[in-house]
Amino acid sequence: MSRAEWNHAPEGAIAVSPLWQWPLRPVKVLKWYADGWFPLSINLSILALAFLSWVYLSPTLDTAQGFGPWVLGIWARNAVITVAVAGGLHLWFHAYALQGTRMKYDPRPFPRRGRVFSFSDQLKDNMFWTLVSGVTVWSALEAAAWWGLANGLMPRTTFAQTPVWFIAFFFLIPVWESFYFYWIHRLLHTRVFYRFHALHHRNTDVGPWSGLSMHPVEHLLYFGTVVIHLILPTSPVHVIFHLMFYALLAIVTHTGFEGLWFRNAKRVHLGMFHHQIHHRYFEVNYGNLDVPWDKLFGSFHDGTDAGKAQMRERLKNRKRP
Ligand SMILES: [Zn+2]
Ligand SMILES: [Zn+2]
Repeated sequence: MSRAEWNHAPEGAIAVSPLWQWPLRPVKVLKWYADGWFPLSINLSILALAFLSWVYLSPTLDTAQGFGPWVLGIWARNAVITVAVAGGLHLWFHAYALQGTRMKYDPRPFPRRGRVFSFSDQLKDNMFWTLVSGVTVWSALEAAAWWGLANGLMPRTTFAQTPVWFIAFFFLIPVWESFYFYWIHRLLHTRVFYRFHALHHRNTDVGPWSGLSMHPVEHLLYFGTVVIHLILPTSPVHVIFHLMFYALLAIVTHTGFEGLWFRNAKRVHLGMFHHQIHHRYFEVNYGNLDVPWDKLFGSFHDGTDAGKAQMRERLKNRKRP
């Protein structure tokens, strides 16, 4: 990997989940998922935050039977969480640059200015679209789900009723995310929808506020993942986790850095070089690594020079619309 192209690039080729490699190596598969969930992983932190939000910062199902100020309460809670996570990561990585350029993927400085951005400023652009559109669509869908559950329009469950399902649902949501996001993202790269997705792609290099910086139409498609709760038995905490997982995952996978370093050790792995490549080259790496849709459909760039040559070849041969 040439130095000029990336400031930091991981060693070797990007690996996908061993669940999809043959012959199946059960220990490796278990380790992949255990690494994703335990010990202090991002998934687990979001799960804890979802439970805290459910217990302390949510309406009751009784209140949610009619619309009222609780809807604004959900927006405020989600906005505060977004500002804390995206703002905190931005201060750490970019405003104060507490770890310098260590493990930063892109060699160019961030954020940038330019006419391509709203307010001619990448940071203001990203914050505006995240808070005004992102948090609003997220919260509106969460409020609609609360209202639907409260009024018996969606199947409801509790831990006491179905303990196994109640827990399993949390683990299935990230797997579902991998399927759903790949296909929505490919749809966004079609001629009809790219006009909306282009807003996210103003960012050829990214920071935490870029993750949820999307057009309202893209936010609707992205958070539209919650439609599965119309048919699957759900507790409000499942919906809170589902939407919060999508929102916060987008933020933490767009820091522009492979990991958070503190006192000479990598404390949190944030590496999404796979998606950073998507922001640089667009027509490659639409999904994530849990389900290798990109490998299956030939849109995979594994981060090596060979991967890049393959991508060039594929784009050259692609039929022009
Ligand atoms: Zn992105
Ligand atoms: Zn894209």
